[in-house]
Amino acid sequence: MKAPAFDYVRPQSLGEAMALLAKSSGEARLLAGGQSLLALMNLRIAAPALLIDIARLPELAAAVDGVDRVILGAGITHAMIEDTRVPDPSRGLMPRAAASLAYRAIRNRGTIGGSLALADPAAEWPAVFAALDGEITVASPRGRRSLNCAGFSTGIYETQLAEDEILENVRIPKLSPGARWGYVKLARKSGEFANALAVAVADPARRFCRIVLGAANGPPIVLAAASQVLAEGRSDPDRLRGAVAADLDRAADRHFDDFQRHLNIVAAARALQQVTA
Ligand SMILES: Cc1cc2nc3c(=O)[nH]c(=O)nc-3n(C[C@H](O)[C@H](O)[C@H](O)COP(=O)(O)OP(=O)(O)OC[C@H]3O[C@@H](n4cnc5c(N)ncnc54)[C@H](O)[C@@H]3O)c2cc1C
Repeated sequence: MKAPAFDYVRPQSLGEAMALLAKSSGEARLLAGGQSLLALMNLRIAAPALLIDIARLPELAAAVDGVDRVILGAGITHAMIEDTRVPDPSRGLMPRAAASLAYRAIRNRGTIGGSLALADPAAEWPAVFAALDGEITVASPRGRRSLNCAGFSTGIYETQLAEDEILENVRIPKLSPGARWGYVKLARKSGEFANALAVAVADPARRFCRIVLGAANGPPIVLAAASQVLAEGRSDPDRLRGAVAADLDRAADRHFDDFQRHLNIVAAARALQQVTA
């Protein structure tokens, strides 16, 4: 199928893009890498009257290596992270996750901003940035606001973004030299969306430990009990699995069937073992 007819505009600045979006009264969609949106349009699931192409905006391509954090513009592609063409605050976690996301052709065009804004429940970046305690800056003619990556997605394909807001950048704290991480994606074959996804980060120097479950029938879940086990530095596999199972019991609203529950426990326990081994 082909997409329905639409108008197309390429603004020259973020300010111009914000003004166009605000003026469109919900009829426009931002076009970043187009890897998800154009497919949705071809399937006629999305039918925007206007596409505002933000793919080449310099403001969204910036990468800033700060003292204690890295700021990555929303237009940075998965491949740029995979190839470490931008600073890596995660000591290898983000390039590892990028390399497992879709296929190289998609990674060349797809952006972190597009992935976060789309909020596909099985996507990598919402879970990875939540595990790294990242923050998102969103901009509109009304001003800017900062949102935690954990909690940015509010449902399946739903986020805290207002209709007139553009996701501008993601700010990610730098992991300390002694920090460790675990990353486990279970998928039927390489390049496909995850059936289960677990991201664990332990940074004792910053007193930060967190394990996040993606592909969770909704937004990423921060596993509180398992994060606590991680903070205690315990590596007993039974205890790790028990903590994850307790966290999943508390997430009854996700309605995991037995197979999904098993996959989630396996993914989370393996990610925790990668950190504590
Ligand atoms: C075959 C296939 C396999 C894939 N596998 C995976 C996978 O394993 N893991 C994974 O995580 N992803 C996967 N993807 C999705 C891919 O990563 C997309 O690139 C990504 O989800 C969307 O990024 P984009 O830049 O292409 O966004 P677009 O398609 O351009 O836009 C997506 C949505 O985000 C909005 N948007 C874009 N940028 C902004 C912004 N800055 N501010 C506000 N709203 C914005 C758009 O308006 C649109 O609604 C796959 C895609 C395909 C086609």
